[in-house]
Amino acid sequence: MFQREKSRYIFTICFFGVLVKFYSAEKFGNHPATIFDAQRMCLEDGIEGPQRYDALFEGASRVLNDLELVQDRVSTASLARIHSPQLLDFYRAMEKNGFNPPLPDSFPPPGISIEPENLLARYGRHCTDTQSPLTREYYTEALRSAYAAELAAKEIDSGDAYVLCRPPGHHAGRDFFGGFCFLNNAALAAEILSKKGSVAVLDVDFHHGNGTQDIFYKRKDVAVFSLHGDPAWSYPYFQGYESEKGSGEGTGYNFNYPLEETISKQEYFSVLEQALKDVADFNPKYLIVSFGADTYKEDPVGGLSLDVQDFSQLGSMLGALQLPSLIIQEGGYAVSMLPDIVENFLQGFLKK
Ligand SMILES: [Zn+2]
Repeated sequence: MFQREKSRYIFTICFFGVLVKFYSAEKFGNHPATIFDAQRMCLEDGIEGPQRYDALFEGASRVLNDLELVQDRVSTASLARIHSPQLLDFYRAMEKNGFNPPLPDSFPPPGISIEPENLLARYGRHCTDTQSPLTREYYTEALRSAYAAELAAKEIDSGDAYVLCRPPGHHAGRDFFGGFCFLNNAALAAEILSKKGSVAVLDVDFHHGNGTQDIFYKRKDVAVFSLHGDPAWSYPYFQGYESEKGSGEGTGYNFNYPLEETISKQEYFSVLEQALKDVADFNPKYLIVSFGADTYKEDPVGGLSLDVQDFSQLGSMLGALQLPSLIIQEGGYAVSMLPDIVENFLQGFLKK
């Protein structure tokens, strides 16, 4: 599947001397996780399932073949750089309890930060929704994905990388998780790179990267730029507004570009152009792309106006920044189209 000839071709023709590596956590298990659909009042198989892994892998391996398959799990010490001790302790307690209960049923009122002893209550304390069941398989995949992101960040001097993370991570904040995200892969990579220079995290998933925003909101060495469906009508609803610009030292280093539901392709790329100008003004040493394929027009969860071939333009516009880059996979749920979307995006990016 991974032919060296293909690699040389890309390297010579498209790449201008930059090697792009493909990191992936090895797939673990084949479980559909059950979520509670609050609109239809029923339990159903989650849309963020292992079938996404196969589709993403297929797309990336059409373009990249220098693959590092990761089995190891990220350490607690690494996770403690971006997540709170309380959240990590909750994960440990869930693991010890056989990942029971399956979903939370109580959520704290705003401003309450009490950490109850009751595990079900702690679930609601840290989880923001009913769509993120913490199962053994999910958690294992999350630990491996975070390790893949960590590895890619540590090896960035050897070239850009695409990191197949599944489940995604950008909805996991310092002290909370949700939206199928348990550990913030992009934030871990950004945190590691920030020790060597400033980092821009550019989130082009359909949904606002509220977890990433939360983790870096008070910092000026990691600036966060997110284009997403306006939270007025789109998950995660409570964050992602233009007025959120960072706080303290981080004021002016958080950029949100909420998009109308009916935005045209041309308008989308013009907002992206503005975001890229803002990234360039920040003048980062490194770029992390939180890449979601759910801006595809028929994505069952997101969906803007982008067609499959438009992802090539998206990739090439990001590649044109000419920065040492990590592409971290976030969402994208139109499984049958994911291979083509990822292939187009990476090929566009490689034209840099
Ligand atoms: Zn998304």
